[in-house]
Amino acid sequence: WLTRDTDDGGYDPDAPYLDASRPVAERVDDLLGRMTLDEKIGQMTQAERREVTTGDVTTYALGSLLSGGGSVPADNTPQGWADMYDGFQTEALATRLRIPMIYGVDAVHGHNNVSGATIFPHNIGLGATRDPQLVRKIGEAVATEVVATGLDWDFAPCLCVARDTRWGRTYESFGEDPEIASSMTTIVTGLQGEQLGGPNSVLATAKHYVGDGGTLGGKDQGDAQISEEELRKVHLPPFQAAVKAGVGSVMVSFSSFNGEKLHGHRYLLTDVLKGELGFTGFVVSDWNAIDQIDGVRDAFTPAEVSTAINAGIDMVMVPERWREFIGVLRDEVNAGTVPMSRIDDANRRILTKKFELGMFERPLADRSQFDQVGSAAHRELARQAVRRSQVLLKNAGGVLPLKPKTGKVFVAGRNADDIGNQSGGWTLTWQGKSGPITEGTTILQGIKEAVEPGGTVTYSADGSGLNRGYDVAIAVLGETPYAEYEGDRPDGVKLDKVDLDTLATLRKAGVPVVVVLVSGRPVDISAQLPQVQGLVAAWLPGTEGAGVADVLFGAYAPTGKLPMSWPATAAQEPINTGDEKTPLFAYGYGLTY
Ligand code: BGC
Repeated sequence: WLTRDTDDGGYDPDAPYLDASRPVAERVDDLLGRMTLDEKIGQMTQAERREVTTGDVTTYALGSLLSGGGSVPADNTPQGWADMYDGFQTEALATRLRIPMIYGVDAVHGHNNVSGATIFPHNIGLGATRDPQLVRKIGEAVATEVVATGLDWDFAPCLCVARDTRWGRTYESFGEDPEIASSMTTIVTGLQGEQLGGPNSVLATAKHYVGDGGTLGGKDQGDAQISEEELRKVHLPPFQAAVKAGVGSVMVSFSSFNGEKLHGHRYLLTDVLKGELGFTGFVVSDWNAIDQIDGVRDAFTPAEVSTAINAGIDMVMVPERWREFIGVLRDEVNAGTVPMSRIDDANRRILTKKFELGMFERPLADRSQFDQVGSAAHRELARQAVRRSQVLLKNAGGVLPLKPKTGKVFVAGRNADDIGNQSGGWTLTWQGKSGPITEGTTILQGIKEAVEPGGTVTYSADGSGLNRGYDVAIAVLGETPYAEYEGDRPDGVKLDKVDLDTLATLRKAGVPVVVVLVSGRPVDISAQLPQVQGLVAAWLPGTEGAGVADVLFGAYAPTGKLPMSWPATAAQEPINTGDEKTPLFAYGYGLTY
């Protein structure tokens, strides 16, 4: 398969690129000079683990592999991942030049594909903490869990500035204000370490570049119909901050900017990102996204491939159809549509990160840290983050905090006792799933821990059984999991009928009701608000549900502040700081005791 157009004869153990004492730039130049066109194209190709069979990584000199959401090895334990990684890496090391492959994964709120990993709150909750140092620590913990399984690269953080809650990926945003997302780029340092290649260092990815949170109507993969001034004022600053923090890779957004697909946007990818912002890492495409450049999802046409690469994409995520991509790119280079200088630049950027990560020296999984995955220390950090992310929105008559270890507490709602629901998308499966999908503590378990012994807790999902003998009813309502586009709500984010019914049942008993909203974004609660005494936005807390109870029972007085304006009606969307519209709760709102 591999044509040896610039082949210097094979592996040379004394080659300068293998000498760790030499500067990275020198090693890259030396290696690049030895590579054939096919090897260079291989470096730029990222395939999905399910779509390669034994031998492919060697035969095609594939530079990168990924696990899409929920794409896990049969043995979904830290060791199972390390074994899978080493299998692929061994194949990469069997190539002529022994260039390691880099393995990427969406560890977007913890190492969320791995069974038993610590699941942290999704970004929207972290935005509510307003605590960049806490977020940096979370980055360190996530990197430690990722490294423990052998992997090198995390497709996080999402730095979208969500401007419309109808958008189904709002939960991945730190908030509506570019200031929040910019301040939270501390997570880049948490993930990568002070510099790449240190202990527990993974390559971070600032995504999705740029303007995905500003699409018309909050449509996922939609079109941001905004001025360049607004793009620069609102959506670009977090990327600028990430570049300043040294982020190693940037993922392009599926969305368009004024009708032009970002994946073909040379001005924004090359002139602005690499030129103006001075980004020296590599740009990776999103999943098959180059296929959407011409608006038809059919094949990687020659025009789409050359447009994407010439626009500045360095590595292309072509999960299933990587063979097709390789063939088209080779033809385009041979035809002169994609200049060799662009191929070399892309390779330089990718190889530089591989050298900086120390992958040539330590290509295989370090198997000494399996017990870091889901460790007690990481779970404690996550519980702290949950506490800090709670936003108290209503507290009539001081119904909260509730007294611990006493009284009769009634708990209802389908999100009260469900690890899957409280974790949201990107947890074990791509879109997420209800039910006991991994280890952790549900909100109900946290409440029990706070109340018993001394008091009693009764739970019924639909609220039936509540009578006047109870001191309070806690209704845990909100959204159920989604990750991408399934969460779009063009008509506004509303409570489902099952939640409304639960609430109606609870209200009949005449007991004070506290609503805890488990959701990835503000939910329309205007009509129900006067009927309840307490309201807490819990966001998507992850596996450590006890952090919610810590706030309800006063172990921690709430400090969370809204990272987004909370619209009074869907008709107010999009609604942002500085608008004339009056939200139900303003950006930055949050009570305490
Ligand atoms: C998402 C990205 C993700 C990629 C790989 C895409 O569908 O938009 O955020 O990193 O899949 O799983």
